[in-house]
Amino acid sequence: MAACFGETAPVFAAGPPQFVTEPVPPLFTPSLQTIDGSVIARQTERGNVILAGYPRTAADAIANRAPVPPVKTLAAMRALARVVPALAHSHVIRVWSGIEGYLPDMIPVIGPSLTTPRLFHAFGFCGHGFQIGPGVGLCLSEMIIDGATPTPLDPFSIGRFRSEAVVSDKFRQEFD
Ligand SMILES: Cc1cc2nc3c(=O)[nH]c(=O)nc-3n(C[C@H](O)[C@H](O)[C@H](O)COP(=O)(O)OP(=O)(O)OC[C@H]3O[C@@H](n4cnc5c(N)ncnc54)[C@H](O)[C@@H]3O)c2cc1C
Repeated sequence: MAACFGETAPVFAAGPPQFVTEPVPPLFTPSLQTIDGSVIARQTERGNVILAGYPRTAADAIANRAPVPPVKTLAAMRALARVVPALAHSHVIRVWSGIEGYLPDMIPVIGPSLTTPRLFHAFGFCGHGFQIGPGVGLCLSEMIIDGATPTPLDPFSIGRFRSEAVVSDKFRQEFD
C-alpha cells in the first residue's frame, strides 16, 4: 500500500510457529519465555501446553499459507524439553502459524507518510502487534485528531528505509 504513494519498506511475510501438546499433569502456571525467545509457553487448565518459539517459519502472503515444517516442531520441542524436562516425551497434537509482516530491523513502521498529507502508516509488526496494538491505535488517533502525538515515533518512521536498511541481530538470528 505504501508503494502506491511512492514509499518503500522492505516488508516480507513470515510466521511464528505455534504448537500444542496433549494434556499433561499440571507443571507450571505462569507463562514462560526464554530471553532468546526460543521458548514461549503456557499450560492450559486442561493440561495442554501451548508453545511458540523463534525462529519463525516462512509464509506465503499470496497463497495465504504459513506451513510449519516438521523440523520446526522437533526443534521447538527440544527447546521446550531443555526448559521443562518433564515435557521431553509429550506429544504435539496440533501445529499452526499465520502470516505476519517483518522488517529487517524487527520494528514496525508507524507514523505519517513522507509523501502524502493525511496518510498514516502502521504495518510490519514483526510478531508483536497484539502487545503494542492499543498503543499504536492511540498514537494514530492522536496524530489524526490532534495533528501530533506526544509519543516519539521517529525510530518507526518509513523514512528510515530511504537509506540502506539496518538489519538487527535478531533478524540475522532468525532469517539468515
Ligand atoms: C500465529 C500468530 C501468533 C502471534 N502471536 C502474537 C503474540 O503472542 N503477541 C503479539 O504481540 N503478536 C502476535 N502475533 C502478531 C500479531 O498477530 C500481529 O502483529 C498483528 O495482528 C498485526 O496487526 P495488523 O493490524 O497490522 O495486521 P492484521 O492483524 O493482519 O490485520 C490486517 C487486516 O487487514 C485486512 N485486509 C487485508 N487486505 C485488505 C484489503 N485489501 N482491504 C481491506 N482489508 C484488508 C485483513 O483481513 C486483516 O483483518 C502473532 C501472529 C501470528 C500469525
